[in-house]
Amino acid sequence: MGDDDIPLELTERDQWDGWVMARLDDGWCSALDRKTLLCTIYERRPMICRDYQVGDFDCIQERLQHTAARIESHVASSTAKAI
Ligand code: SF4
Repeated sequence: MGDDDIPLELTERDQWDGWVMARLDDGWCSALDRKTLLCTIYERRPMICRDYQVGDFDCIQERLQHTAARIESHVASSTAKAI
C-alpha cells in the first residue's frame, strides 16, 4: 500500500493484486474496533483513510449509503418474517 506502514496481518491482496485493508466476515475493515467503531491503527492508517475527514462531504455520503443499506436490509428482513 505504497509508503503506508500498515500491519501486514491486517492487509490482503485484492483481485488486481494490490494490497488493501482486509475485511472481516461482517465486511468491515479488519482494523476497526467493532465495539468503539474507532480505528485501532489510527496513527498508521493508510493514506486513503487519511484523505477522509470525519464530517466532510465524502464521509457524510458514505454514512448515508450505509444507513440506507441497513434500513433496506432491516425492512427486507422484517417483510420476509411477516410473510
Ligand atoms: S480508518 Fe482506515 S484502517 Fe482504520 S478502521 Fe477505518 S478503514 Fe480501517
